[in-house]
Amino acid sequence: MSTQFQSRRDFIKTSALAAASAPFLGALAPRAFAAEPERKLGFALAGLGSLSTHQIAPALQSTKFCKLTGIITGHPAKAERWKTQYNIPDKNIYNYDNMEKMADNLDIDVVYVVTPNGLHAEHTIKAAKAGKHVLCEKPMEVSVERSQQMIDACKKAGKQLAIGYRLHFDPPNLECVRLAREKTFGAVRLIEGGYGFSMGDPTQWRLNKELAGGGPLMDVGIYALQASRYLSGEEPVEVSAITTVTDPVKFKEVEESIVWQAKFPSGVLAQCSATYKVSGTNFFRVHADRGWFELNPAYSYNGIHGRRSDGQTIQFPDIDQFAAEMDDFAQCILENRPTKVPGEEGLRDVKIMMAIYKAARSGKTVELS
Ligand code: NAD
Repeated sequence: MSTQFQSRRDFIKTSALAAASAPFLGALAPRAFAAEPERKLGFALAGLGSLSTHQIAPALQSTKFCKLTGIITGHPAKAERWKTQYNIPDKNIYNYDNMEKMADNLDIDVVYVVTPNGLHAEHTIKAAKAGKHVLCEKPMEVSVERSQQMIDACKKAGKQLAIGYRLHFDPPNLECVRLAREKTFGAVRLIEGGYGFSMGDPTQWRLNKELAGGGPLMDVGIYALQASRYLSGEEPVEVSAITTVTDPVKFKEVEESIVWQAKFPSGVLAQCSATYKVSGTNFFRVHADRGWFELNPAYSYNGIHGRRSDGQTIQFPDIDQFAAEMDDFAQCILENRPTKVPGEEGLRDVKIMMAIYKAARSGKTVELS
């Protein structure tokens, strides 16, 4: 049967079966038949920028286990707008300096950190200290040390920490993981991937090393890195990389484009790129012994689809990835089970990205343990 015509129910069934025999796929599989919630968990959004405004807040309206109950913002005017639009009571509106006061607010169970990368640790640790679970956007932070501090703070508070890896809930990406794990086209040998866009605003925090941690690798390359990890099912053992800057005025602090290679223990090789210079790369392609499969686009919010070397297409009805990610986290909390995208998963990516930057700086291959 062509995957194009596979219903979502069949897909979930297939995934569940595959999950039983493949732990990593199991880690990616969506929960199929969730019970009706006894109560929805209250989410407070920290950072009311583009992603919160256009994706997360609208997605919260369609979740089954979550509701938007609070906001954390440094802009009183934004607070007024959100208060009216989402009916948020004054007592549930905080700023970055009084987050500790959330401790006695029972309306808020989870803080979703959607601020610039270099502020994730500060805001996650404040939320954990206030006794809240934390869902934090990718990349987890700008250093291994700060990522570890986030894990430690949430552990100390006895709260869960998840990273916003929305594609772990995306059916076409899950289908490709299934094809890789079940060796539908034989053993995976080579993975190519890339993601990028043309950066407009030269003043934004994404070009500021302290706030962004790096350039397109940290922002969008992380998706190709993730894909190489979930498609190979392995962790890279060595990386090499090269960067370029053709516009030194705009790219004073971070790379403009980067290409990196990774080698995995079984011998799988990945060749990936990320760029802020040109739009149009948004793909991965997996070459296996008897064929290939690819997604293009691979990392978008919707419209992800792909092809296989046997002529079949990879296509599923769009889902709201953010709603799926938040509902899954809420279920983990309600059922007291671990999230499939914990802080440790975010830390692994940060470690690898730091190794990729080290390789680019030194021009030498960097080994990872
Ligand atoms: P944005 O610039 O649109 O919003 C950032 C928000 O943080 C703004 O509301 C800003 O006021 C606030 N902020 C607080 N302190 C700040 C400071 N010192 N400097 C600048 N802004 C400050 O950014 P965004 O696109 O919403 O990204 C936010 C986070 O979400 C980033 O970590 C990014 O990587 C992540 N993100 C994830 C996805 C995804 O698909 N999962 C997509 C886009 C962004």
